[in-house]
Amino acid sequence: MEKVLKKVDELHEYYVNLLKDMVSIATVVPPGENYKEFVEYGKEVLKDLGMEVSVVEVPKDYLAKHIPEMKDNPRYILLGRLKGDGKTTLHFNGHYDVVPPGAGWRTDPFKPVIVNGKLYGRGASDMKGGIVSILTAIKALVESGIEISGTLEVSMTPDEEIGGMCGANYMLEAELTKPDYCIIAEPSGYDRVWIGHKGSLWGEIVVYGKTAHASTPWLGVNAFEKMVKLANKLIEQLKPKVESKVTKYETDAPEGKRATIVLGSIVKGGVKINVVPDKVIFQFDRRVLPEEDFENVIKEVEEVIEEAKKEDPELKAEFKVLFEAKPAAISPQSKLALAMKEAVREVIGREPRLTLSTGFLDARFFVEKGIETLTYGPGDLSQAHVANEYIELSKIPLVSKAYILSIMKLLK
Ligand SMILES: [Zn+2]
Repeated sequence: MEKVLKKVDELHEYYVNLLKDMVSIATVVPPGENYKEFVEYGKEVLKDLGMEVSVVEVPKDYLAKHIPEMKDNPRYILLGRLKGDGKTTLHFNGHYDVVPPGAGWRTDPFKPVIVNGKLYGRGASDMKGGIVSILTAIKALVESGIEISGTLEVSMTPDEEIGGMCGANYMLEAELTKPDYCIIAEPSGYDRVWIGHKGSLWGEIVVYGKTAHASTPWLGVNAFEKMVKLANKLIEQLKPKVESKVTKYETDAPEGKRATIVLGSIVKGGVKINVVPDKVIFQFDRRVLPEEDFENVIKEVEEVIEEAKKEDPELKAEFKVLFEAKPAAISPQSKLALAMKEAVREVIGREPRLTLSTGFLDARFFVEKGIETLTYGPGDLSQAHVANEYIELSKIPLVSKAYILSIMKLLK
């Protein structure tokens, strides 16, 4: 055991070069650039580890259905498999897409530079650094000649940053893999393990009125005024109800234990200053606890709208769900959570926190298929999606070691 952990430290050059190469491939989504190039690169890396490798292109009609505006940019699932004796399969997953760099960079976001032990570049923390930790762990295991019992899998999937439908979701829907356990290397931080995440419901309410010239408003119905009344009702009735719900799971910040709703995150309406607005749209973002029933979350919104309509027969409002991500969580007492907690403690000398992430993750697709899944990786969440994103290189081998120890605990 000592030997394989020491091996990780000897792989310093390996993981630094791997990360540099991966960050240099600008896998920006939207729309999904250079995916092919990344997968070709990753395929060779997995082959070098002695893995059985496959690349699966997501069917065109699947893209057309889920991401019609990007259907001409192909999506690929990269899978590596290392088979041993035994039935248990442990799967490691990472998404290879990154968000657009945005403004404010001091260096080229796709030409990684290292300063004071930090590697700067888009995707360094979220989450190519995590993918590199996985590969380093496997390389150390393979080079140490340690026999594992069971199957070890690695997948690299696209599109997490736009909802994951044609990435991790497709991989599982198409049954390309059916593991027992899954570890996702998203940037939880080396001393924290996410055993789940909140879900999200994005909704839109359209309020209709009747247009008229502003000099004769009595001929119209003002959709803005109707919307304000409805919004107020949602603030007074729905919001306190939502915020009264508290999860039993630990969260990163204490405030995160409650369900939340942000009303009016987008508001659109009106056409001209001297025209009575006949249509106003407002959107909201509702964060859902693992203990909540998703259908009920929708029903709670509908009920307030129905009540408002009864109070004002003139109110015309339509509610639709724009996007939903189901919450997902595993027990802190599950075999996987306990194995990872112990592994991290052995590496860093103290127990990691096991928390619920407030942001949703690809973990939901795995959990929905009954796969025990957690998220743990070397990146820092504060670095995700920001200008001058970096990863502290010293965190990569720490996490690789924790991966190795959890592999040994789960596949033995
Ligand atoms: Zn990510």
